[in-house]
Amino acid sequence: MTELLTLKEYQAIANSMDIPKTAFINGKNKPGQGKKLKTKNPATGELIATIASCNAKDVDLAVKKANEAFNKGVWAKKTPQDRKEILIKLCKLITRNRKELAVIESLESGKPIIDCEQIDIPETINTIKWHAELIDKIYDQAGPVNDNALSLIVREPIGVVAAILPWNFPLLMLAWKIGPALAAGCSIIVKPAEQTSISSLKLANLASEAGIPDGVFQVLPGGGKDVGEPLALHENVDMISFTGSTETGKKILKYSSDSNLKKVVLECGGKNPAIVFSDAENLDNVAEHIVTGAFWNMGENCSAISRLIVSKKIKKQLLKKVKLRLRDWKTGDPLNPRNRLGALIDAEHCKKVKSYMNKNIPEGPFVPPTILEVNKKAKVVKDEIFGPILSVIEFSDEDEAIAIANETKYGLTASVFTSSNRKAIRTARELKAGTVTINCYGEGDITTPFGGFKQSGFGGRDNSFHAHDQYTETKTIWIDLNDPSEGDNIG
Ligand code: ADP
Repeated sequence: MTELLTLKEYQAIANSMDIPKTAFINGKNKPGQGKKLKTKNPATGELIATIASCNAKDVDLAVKKANEAFNKGVWAKKTPQDRKEILIKLCKLITRNRKELAVIESLESGKPIIDCEQIDIPETINTIKWHAELIDKIYDQAGPVNDNALSLIVREPIGVVAAILPWNFPLLMLAWKIGPALAAGCSIIVKPAEQTSISSLKLANLASEAGIPDGVFQVLPGGGKDVGEPLALHENVDMISFTGSTETGKKILKYSSDSNLKKVVLECGGKNPAIVFSDAENLDNVAEHIVTGAFWNMGENCSAISRLIVSKKIKKQLLKKVKLRLRDWKTGDPLNPRNRLGALIDAEHCKKVKSYMNKNIPEGPFVPPTILEVNKKAKVVKDEIFGPILSVIEFSDEDEAIAIANETKYGLTASVFTSSNRKAIRTARELKAGTVTINCYGEGDITTPFGGFKQSGFGGRDNSFHAHDQYTETKTIWIDLNDPSEGDNIG
């Protein structure tokens, strides 16, 4: 477990660190031709930095450079071992800079530093390392054909990828995209969320230092309309990998069909259920998982548990334990390592989240974790809120629990708590979700695919071999083994 510093030590890092403020295009820090972005600290409202922002002209330049790098093969045609070594060097540089990166992450996104130190940074490193290690251990295939032919089924990097990122896990979502895309040999252009560009810019500079060639990994800060849309509409971008709202995801699909049918992979919203049956083992443990699942990262998490669907028989007992545990989850200054909850991302989001709460919440960016016992038809049960609100709905039998859980347009993750293995598996099979966890909250890990059913996702999965494959094209190479000098062998 990473050793934590004191609040004063984190503040000292915040006050002394170098903040990259320019776009990163073709291996160089460039001003960008859009209107500047003001990155503010969500916890205090103070300005962290004024950052370059890009527009469609910068997009054109970055796409040109990404294609040139790809076509020259400066990265795509390096040996697998060389690409692996460079990505591992990047992991070492991230490790060396981890305190600074953790502070940037906390300052920009309002996340508690304890999570940045113990989850976001280690997982970012682990993701890139896992994909780097995969490069020289993954095989292509030969088809089962007659002896007079040999068929090869090979993966090739898809080309130029654009990644459009959200603000809730700026570094980890970046790693989920660049890890497999760079491992596969693609060039990648990243558009971070407007609120959180600094960590991506820092990482691009480290990647260049590690030896990633110019044009292979570029970062274009800017707005969705100014940078995201031109990237997604670009004729020379081969793939878009997006994490964000379902609403924007649908637009991305349209941009693809309006342009070059670029491949689209979307990881969108969630309204994730946790079903707790009356025979759940150890309610203290269940309560621990529910609190973490619902309130970790202030609930600004597409896989957050936002609907607790609990048996009538144990509802009172479980809620008592959940509330008791919540007392240890202090809310406040994200840089203070004692706080488990930080600030919500910005004033607009705060307003939206608070509108679902039926009591007067104090002004400001800190929203206390809230539990609402509601009817399954309530608005709070339907909408993705992306805040620290847990709706509680009771059920009487297994069928009803499953029906309530599936009554949503989303299908990202779900959890089941029961001491019956049969019931657990039966329920897991019935739930329409990309990941179902049994007797715990979680998302799987780097070895397991992550993505959603229904309107939670489209076109692929993050993490694991599945992620690697989605940044490649499959090509069949058919080799005729007949010897033409031996006469007519056709047929
Ligand atoms: P949120 O509501 O959580 O901010 P969004 O889906 O709006 O989620 O944002 C996710 C990412 O998509 C951000 O980087 C944002 O700038 C980008 N984005 C927003 N609108 C568009 C758009 N029309 N085209 C491309 N990207 C967009």
